Amino acid sequence: MTRTLIIGAGAAGLMCAAHAGPDTLVIDHAKAAGEKIRISGGGRCNFTNMHTAPDNFLSQNPHFAKSALSRYTQWDFLDLVQAHQIAWHEKTLGQLFCDRSARDIIAMLLAEMEKADATLQLQTSALDIAKTETGFRVTLETHGKRRTITPQHIVLATGGKSIPKMGATDFAYRIARQFGHAVTQTRPALVPLTVEDRFKPLAGTAAPARVWTETCAPFEEAVLFTHRGLSGPAILQASSYWTDGAPLWIDLLPDTDLAVDLKAQKKSYGRKALTTALARHLPQRLVDHLASELALTGNVADQPDAGLDDLAAALAAWKVTPTATEGYRTAEVTLGGINTDGISSKTLQSKTVPGLYMIGEAVDVTGWLGGYNFQWAWSSGWAAGQAIAQT
Ligand code: FAD
Repeated sequence: MTRTLIIGAGAAGLMCAAHAGPDTLVIDHAKAAGEKIRISGGGRCNFTNMHTAPDNFLSQNPHFAKSALSRYTQWDFLDLVQAHQIAWHEKTLGQLFCDRSARDIIAMLLAEMEKADATLQLQTSALDIAKTETGFRVTLETHGKRRTITPQHIVLATGGKSIPKMGATDFAYRIARQFGHAVTQTRPALVPLTVEDRFKPLAGTAAPARVWTETCAPFEEAVLFTHRGLSGPAILQASSYWTDGAPLWIDLLPDTDLAVDLKAQKKSYGRKALTTALARHLPQRLVDHLASELALTGNVADQPDAGLDDLAAALAAWKVTPTATEGYRTAEVTLGGINTDGISSKTLQSKTVPGLYMIGEAVDVTGWLGGYNFQWAWSSGWAAGQAIAQT
């Protein structure tokens, strides 16, 4: 007998399975559980962030994530990691990674699930889901064989639309809609942005920067120029706030008062070319690009102080208007999802369909880059699991 059916053996589904109580079945259409965990963080899984707080998440309801995040915190997950003797380190900005391999996190979640006596069935799909008086009737298919189960609870944990090559589907949105839930507009997020061809010669150049859009505060991390446009952590962060046609701004010298420096260089060695003066602070290829884009010519000494002030101001808020995102093919996450208005923030249960739960990336809660998305998966999976176990 299956009391609880969890659809999706990713981060949120596996965490939920470890806490949902007896007779829990987790299904996934993939050949292995936790595939996104496996490839995350360059194979080392940035599994949480020490600074996790509700402000690190985007949602139409900025308060929604607070309850789950405060009841199952980054420290709770870190305790679990340590209990499984998984070695970890902080890389930067509170981002915690496995020393060895992301596979350690998958093994830990599978062990926790097993400890809870939950069953995992891979290469299995839910063909249709109908509501009954006491729960649901679900047709499952494994290797062409069909069977029907009647769980009391269903947890939608099939994630978002990013990386379709890895089996991402819009399943959770479809089922949520079937049961009357609204789904907010979805977009690729934490994604590189494309810019016309003008950055091509800069491909491979990286620089520390501050990047912001009209709607977000600056992110201070690296920017990477690519053949197609812009990437690097600062751009990925800003991409979650970027909308079609809008500009973004890049401060190319976040730690330097360029106007002061150029004026000092003008005094000490003014016969130096302006581009040489800039190359003290920026990669040469970027200086060459800026020289042609901003028509920078002559020596530092040729520039009036006001001109140096203008140049410093231009580089402190360099405006770039991307043409598009690279799309779900490379996006780390999906922005938007199942509208939180219809979901209890405490239990992650539908407010209108008793027994239906929605967790993880499928819900309209999207974290910043840096371990926040996994923390949301752990917290929401735990909160739903607890609630189910108590019914
Ligand atoms: P997922 O982990 O995507 O799991 C969903 C599961 O549902 C999958 O196993 C899928 O096979 C299954 N499924 C989908 N459709 C169906 C269906 N119709 N039937 C049955 N099963 C289905 N976040 C971080 O915090 N730190 C990182 O280091 C990090 N690195 C990332 C790197 C990459 C390349 C990517 C793409 C994402 C990364 N993320 C990272 C984001 C993070 O992986 C996700 O936010 C997180 O996995 C979401 O968890 P989830 O359980 O909601 O969904």
